[in-house]
Amino acid sequence: MTNLSPNGLQILQARYLRRTEVTETPDELFQRVAKHLITVEDEDHEFWFDRFYGVMRHLEFLPNSPTLMNAGLPKGQLSACFVLPVEDNLEAIFTTLKNAALIHNSGGGTGYNFSKLRPKDDIITSSEGSSAGAIAFMKIYDTATEYVKQAGKRRGANMGILNVTHSDIEAFVTSKSDRESLQNFNISVGITNDFMNAVKNNLEWQLVNPRTKKVSKTIRAKMLWDLIVDEALKTGEPGLIFLDTINQDNRLPKQGKINCTNPCGEVPLFDFESCNLGSINLTKMVVHDGKKNEIDWNKLDKTISIAIRFLDNVISSNHYLLPNIKHITLANRKIGLGVMGWAELLIMLSIPYASEKAVDLAEVLMKFIQEKSYAASGNLAQIRGCFPSWKESRYAPNTLLRNATCNSIAPTGSISVIADASYSIEPLYALAYKRTEILNDKTQIEINSIFVEKMKSLGFWTEEIQNEVIANGSIQNIKHIPKNIKKLFETSLEIPWKYHLLHQRAFQKYTDNAVSKTINLASNTTANEVSEIYKTAWKYGLKGITIYRNGSRANQILQPCGVN
Ligand code: ADP
Repeated sequence: MTNLSPNGLQILQARYLRRTEVTETPDELFQRVAKHLITVEDEDHEFWFDRFYGVMRHLEFLPNSPTLMNAGLPKGQLSACFVLPVEDNLEAIFTTLKNAALIHNSGGGTGYNFSKLRPKDDIITSSEGSSAGAIAFMKIYDTATEYVKQAGKRRGANMGILNVTHSDIEAFVTSKSDRESLQNFNISVGITNDFMNAVKNNLEWQLVNPRTKKVSKTIRAKMLWDLIVDEALKTGEPGLIFLDTINQDNRLPKQGKINCTNPCGEVPLFDFESCNLGSINLTKMVVHDGKKNEIDWNKLDKTISIAIRFLDNVISSNHYLLPNIKHITLANRKIGLGVMGWAELLIMLSIPYASEKAVDLAEVLMKFIQEKSYAASGNLAQIRGCFPSWKESRYAPNTLLRNATCNSIAPTGSISVIADASYSIEPLYALAYKRTEILNDKTQIEINSIFVEKMKSLGFWTEEIQNEVIANGSIQNIKHIPKNIKKLFETSLEIPWKYHLLHQRAFQKYTDNAVSKTINLASNTTANEVSEIYKTAWKYGLKGITIYRNGSRANQILQPCGVN
């Protein structure tokens, strides 16, 4: 039987287990998913069932939530990530809204770039009126999202992007300033290299009406930059999406430019394109060699090759909600294999997150994952053929691949709770949490079990320390704990932002899609620091950047003990 943590079991019960006359068990859930995926295998069904079921029941790999929720159900929609076009006419705007509602209802999240919309107060020829503008339409999308719940369980998620050249950009940047608007949107400014250079050289910056292509206003680039930075410091948004970096790395430039990502930023996609994600639980990829813990490279290799085949099968066995989505998704077959439990793996290996050693290992690890992912996708291409648009990709003519992209680092917001692993590549936010239970709203305190285990093995676990951790979520102020032990257990806010960015860069270097990461900052962070973080992110070649200053939003789901 799958060995789930109380939280893992609870989240499955609340949201994932299929309810007919009897509710399925977690094992039956994983069997349902595996059974569905082998329907697209030509042979060796039992063999692949065992592999797919095995990696899930041992919590070594989990696919994104919609696959767990919907595989095997009639018209089961299995993808987490979508991008939809927003064209500058009323019919198109509302067609996209309808499509987004269908996607949200099935568990997927949607990203849109609103930059084609004419600005607020621009003329509308047909009605002789004036346009409500991009932000007004975003608010309509936001309200619809609020009421279209996913199987009555969670609200949908949206990414809204506006390019830095758009006439409405200033209003967009401050559109969440009231902390009430657009609560179902993440917002990001679509940044270009030209803009970053204009900021650097303190140049003027032209805002353009996309309908007329005429300059509507000229401002100083630095002024717009400061507005973005101040707003991000205040509310955590907007984030930035680096469009030129994304397009330099576009594997299918002949299909056009990429203008958008999915809601959390880890997958740049063309209009109508969708992507399936899955993540390997790194805490399960460890072997004890008699003296110390090491990464089990052999097991990791095997898990990667099962996971890539798993995700490729998800594409073939998916139910597509729209012909356009089906067409481009089947042509490019993008998948995104990532990781969770990175911070806990480092603890298991006794490597502090804020160290060069950790950053170096991040590169080695992700390089390995990328190489093995490509090898697995290449093997599939030999058996099943390359992805149909392969000839127009950068891989042709020499590199055979089944999938136009293989890797993404997703936030693993839900699946890491199921797997009882730390989120994605994030450091631990605290060593103890107050977590409000999903089912009954009760609050309970949890101490990170890998931290406790390590402390015990080091001979440092006492009741006094336990009480301190519950009170403060940290061990940094306990006098008799040696420095090197304290260093190993630094939490997100105790880790300098420099290391947050270095980890993101290390993983991005070997990730063909993108890395979703939040740079968590202490509440006394300054605007200058945010500006430096955003600039460094661009210099590092990240595809996007998100910050969060502690306490800048009211509702944090996880309340870290002692952090304020
Ligand atoms: P999970 O852990 O549920 O598989 P992640 O937190 O890793 O999901 O998010 C991956 C992607 O799934 C997001 O970037 C987004 O596209 C989509 N997603 C996440 N949460 C939601 C949500 N509440 N509604 C719709 N889509 C979501």
